[in-house]
Amino acid sequence: MNVTRATFDEVMVPNYNPAGMVPVRGEGSRVWDQDGAEYIDFAGGIAVNVLGHCHPELVNVLTEQGSKLWHLSNVFTNEPALRLATKLTQATFADKAYFANSGAEANEAALKLARRFALEKFGQHKDQIIAFNKGFHGRTFFTVTVGGQAAYSDGFGPKPGAVDHCEYNNLEAFEKLISEKTCAVMMEPLQGEGGIISPDPDFVKGVRELCDKHNALLIFDEVQSGVGRTGQLYAYMGLGVTPDILTTAKSLGGGFPIGAMLTTTEIADYLKPGTHGSTYGGNPLACAVAERALDIVNTPEVLNGVEAKEALYRERLAQINEKYNVFSEIRGKGMLLGCALNGEYEGRARDFLVASANEKLMVLVAGANVIRFAPSLVIPDEDIKEGLDRFERAVAAVANA
Ligand SMILES: *Cc1c(COP(=O)(O)O)cnc(C)c1O
Repeated sequence: MNVTRATFDEVMVPNYNPAGMVPVRGEGSRVWDQDGAEYIDFAGGIAVNVLGHCHPELVNVLTEQGSKLWHLSNVFTNEPALRLATKLTQATFADKAYFANSGAEANEAALKLARRFALEKFGQHKDQIIAFNKGFHGRTFFTVTVGGQAAYSDGFGPKPGAVDHCEYNNLEAFEKLISEKTCAVMMEPLQGEGGIISPDPDFVKGVRELCDKHNALLIFDEVQSGVGRTGQLYAYMGLGVTPDILTTAKSLGGGFPIGAMLTTTEIADYLKPGTHGSTYGGNPLACAVAERALDIVNTPEVLNGVEAKEALYRERLAQINEKYNVFSEIRGKGMLLGCALNGEYEGRARDFLVASANEKLMVLVAGANVIRFAPSLVIPDEDIKEGLDRFERAVAAVANA
């Protein structure tokens, strides 16, 4: 059967608008389309393909587990889930793990747990959830309501209540909003979708202190920033602030769908049997792949490599900017970098994405004003250099148009 991009418009719900070409194969940080054209991948499946495409060790574990045991449901537990939970809790502040299939589901679990914890421990008045403008937490109705862009949650009828937002990196505004009624604060310790916005370390410390003062749980959404992306296993480790609940997904499965919520024993105890669940959550196939991805990422070789690769990006991007003067700032951390456009190119991130695609380079945007790179953590240096050569040609094409 012959399928093309045109088939998309015929048979797919139009909530996405994918690129014109259809990728068919990937290896490392290279991808080939139906016509055999070769792309360099700086998008990484939106911060998911943490070890590139078809990493041999992930292919091995997938096929191995695939001929052993795929699925059981949570009526039974399974060895890969138990091993992954052990490794995640050993590597982080957490004592307990809950598995889901996506970032939104991990966040949904975190929010429900926080509400249940506050309700049972403190009473009904303690239900307020505070989150931040431009934050992104997923597309279920609860998570999109907690997210900081009303445009994504408007138009679906009544929203889950007691959700308030305030400005990121503004401790004064946050202090005015938080009170004894606050049940939880959800934040990204590096905003991704919102435009690659790094947190001010003092802001994060202040949020932690105010959460403690008001008995509110601090939830870090590390769906995008986690699993080595910033050069530490989780971004909180570089901030010196420990959350009460952490959510992780995207890179966790290296391309296989999985999410997880991590927390302490004291808090986890409120998610008693029957309170929450998922048919696929903790599926052996997903957990086996994630376990291997975590084993590989959580090593000094890979984590230290992230810092070196970031330096390579920053150096070359600064050169490009010197020549074409298009960016106001190169920001972000590790393999989550954003090129913020200056006034002259305001709102035109998509033009740079299209020009990059023309040069056979896959990039992302984060809002209308930021070009985003979220490549594999082990992208070869040659691919970074070649990809940035292509990016320079794309920048030239937009600047000279
Ligand atoms: C992508 C993302 C999500 C949602 O994850 P899905 O797997 O798409 O549900 C949640 N939070 C953050 C910070 C994200 O970047």
